Amino acid sequence: MKNINDLTKRIIAFRDARDWKQFHNPKDVALSLVLEASEVMEHFQWKNKEEIEEYIETNKTDISEELADVLYWVLLMSHDLKIDVLVALEAKIRKNEEKYPVEKAKGKHTKYNKL
Ligand SMILES: [Mg+2]
Repeated sequence: MKNINDLTKRIIAFRDARDWKQFHNPKDVALSLVLEASEVMEHFQWKNKEEIEEYIETNKTDISEELADVLYWVLLMSHDLKIDVLVALEAKIRKNEEKYPVEKAKGKHTKYNKL
């Protein structure tokens, strides 16, 4: 199992070997991230609950690849912007724990400002 730093180094090495950094400004990287997230959504478009369950069983590899594409761009953007994404994630989880205290949010999908 690779850790996130090893994976980021590999992504950057992949990019550098192809001389693609010249194309990776924050706007286009963010756009790529969203496009890959859209490819995740595309798997589920127009399917009902039962169809989705069946689809996941038979298309897990394809869905995995799209999730990996999203993570690829998250790691690349974090690297370029010098953001420690694990530190950021921990801080965000802490923030969400405060915004959504269990006693108020359990079993509800209400936004924090309406709890
Ligand atoms: Mg993709």
